[in-house]
Amino acid sequence: MPEDVDDMATKIWGLSKRAANYRPASKPEVRCEACKYMFPPLALGGCRLVRGVIQATATCDEFTPRVRQEAG
Ligand code: SF4
Repeated sequence: MPEDVDDMATKIWGLSKRAANYRPASKPEVRCEACKYMFPPLALGGCRLVRGVIQATATCDEFTPRVRQEAG
């Protein structure tokens, strides 16, 4: 939906770790490495919403599952 795109654009890097409640993940399903906002999904990377270095084993209140990887 267009609203989602617009919302996304205004939120890019808009959150501090504190505001997003960035913290160690309690279970693998909600790790940053499984979140669509992490890039690249390696041990250490970045996030489109939360500023700073992001650990793959962390999570935050904005966690959103990555739906599907592109084929290949
Ligand atoms: S869980 Fe939060 S900090 Fe981690 S990648 Fe997703 S949005 Fe970024």
